[in-house]
Amino acid sequence: MTITRILLPLLLVTSTASAADLTIRFLDVGQGDAVLVTTPDGKSMLYDAGRGRTAADLLNRYGVKQLDLAVMSQGDADHIGGFEFVAPSFKPKVLLNNGLAKSTQTYARVLAAFKAAGSQGILASNRTINLGTQVKLQVLPAPAGVPKNNQNANSVGVLLTYGKFKAFFGGDAEPAETAGWARTFGPQLSGVQVYKALHHGSKHNDTRSFLQLVRPQTVVIGVGKNNYGHPSSEALALYEGVNANVFRTDLNGTVTITVKPDGSYTVSGERGLGTRRTTTPTAPQPATPTVPASSESSGFYRNCTEARAAGAVNIRTGEPGYRAALDRDGDGVACER
Ligand SMILES: [Zn+2]
Repeated sequence: MTITRILLPLLLVTSTASAADLTIRFLDVGQGDAVLVTTPDGKSMLYDAGRGRTAADLLNRYGVKQLDLAVMSQGDADHIGGFEFVAPSFKPKVLLNNGLAKSTQTYARVLAAFKAAGSQGILASNRTINLGTQVKLQVLPAPAGVPKNNQNANSVGVLLTYGKFKAFFGGDAEPAETAGWARTFGPQLSGVQVYKALHHGSKHNDTRSFLQLVRPQTVVIGVGKNNYGHPSSEALALYEGVNANVFRTDLNGTVTITVKPDGSYTVSGERGLGTRRTTTPTAPQPATPTVPASSESSGFYRNCTEARAAGAVNIRTGEPGYRAALDRDGDGVACER
């Protein structure tokens, strides 16, 4: 990572976030998840830490001194590995986890690091945690009946509420788990502004029924170079199917959501907000509203079904109606026939 790529987003953040804002940063940690939440009154949560030292480096860059809460959504290394480096420096007061030990050296080192940091461990259960005075975290434990030998299906869910704004982080949850969450937490999950894609956009995790409940406006995928085919075209189609704006840490770098006290929010990307695959990083763009322009405006299609109905197919970059959200494979041509 070059110096400019680190300094520019810092300038961007200081120019767009004020002390009274909630910020949610989907950290670019390569293939894995790490989400840093900082409340208006200065409390912080790190939901997963990716692998390696990147998350710890980024917490330093973003001025975190101590973490109030660390969450291990599940025990796989692409979620917890980075805590080995985060825990000693940021001494999380509380560690929320699913209680399912893994027999890996990474898991052992991470738990030892939390122990040495004096973190208090708590198991996921149906409870609310106050992160500061204005942000509430509803913990979603794995429902009864999901197999205990499957870390993904025992992911710890966290539903964040700040006034009218909601964000949901569901780890690598599988359909059996999200179906259980829908039964228990349906009304609370209904209508979420910001949503972390499950399992890095794998085709086996997000489902149409769960997304139709959650109705996310903005989906962020924590993903890097990988051999799993993440994010899958199936998951991207599901996000498009609920008209979500999709951002990806592999293309956008760290994605920052800045939420105002009235619940409105903006999205900014370390490498801009484009979602085409490009080899040359583009300069960071100022934060822009995420709510798409109304479909009445000329040439704006909410989805490809609407575009096709209007006779628009194979819309190229620069042509009216083109936008990255409609260009699933990022090749510069949207709504291909
Ligand atoms: Zn994962």
